[in-house]
Amino acid sequence: MQNNPSNVKPIGLLGGTFDPIHHGHLRLALELYERLELAEVRLLPAASPPHKNQPMADGQLRLAMVQAAVAGVTGLVADGRELKRTGRSYTIDTLIDVRNEIGTEQALYLMMGMDAFMNLNTWHRWRELLDFAHLLVVRRPGALQPLSHELQEWFRAHQAHPDEAKAHCATGTILSIDIPGLMISSTQIRALLAEGKNPRYLLPSSVLDLIEQYQLYR
Ligand code: ATP
Ligand code: MG
Repeated sequence: MQNNPSNVKPIGLLGGTFDPIHHGHLRLALELYERLELAEVRLLPAASPPHKNQPMADGQLRLAMVQAAVAGVTGLVADGRELKRTGRSYTIDTLIDVRNEIGTEQALYLMMGMDAFMNLNTWHRWRELLDFAHLLVVRRPGALQPLSHELQEWFRAHQAHPDEAKAHCATGTILSIDIPGLMISSTQIRALLAEGKNPRYLLPSSVLDLIEQYQLYR
């Protein structure tokens, strides 16, 4: 753990394929921005996610959609750094990179849904993520498989109350937070588009404009 004596507001990071970004992602980012009193939430489209099928839209287009979605929104920022790296995209490298940029004192929250956390122990150097950031696990209502024993133990060993993390350190704890979330997924949006249906109201119209302009997900 590193001390956080400077009282600079923490930064939140939300990675995803964002293929495409939608109102579920955006509400999540905004609610966490407000609830944790963050300096900003950075949305980072993944280059070549090791744990998913390849995204269907090109990285630069997914970034452009994220940029369009957050344009003019206080607190939300698009961050394209993962697209600049060649080869596989690992979250640990992103955290190291962001740490180099912001220094050791400012708290970082790596945010993810419980669906992502459930597979965390398959991520590259996953235990070391806590050397560079806090983990913020968002629980949404809905059917979830139980956590593996390994993750459950790790979760318990590092779990902290939000105020505790806020007061004391820049890295090293796991917080879980309940956010109702919207029943929206990128998969659902791609499926609608593939069927020639209209996904309007599930995502910002600026993002839908880009999808139409570039004829994505047909
Ligand atoms: P796909 O359907 O392709 O898996 P997705 O909609 O789940 O896409 P991702 O890019 O996989 O989006 O998700 C990025 C992050 O956003 C993950 O941490 C995920 O848990 C979270 N997330 C995704 N959809 C929602 C939602 N509707 N509400 C809250 N969080 C979400
Ligand atoms: Mg998903």
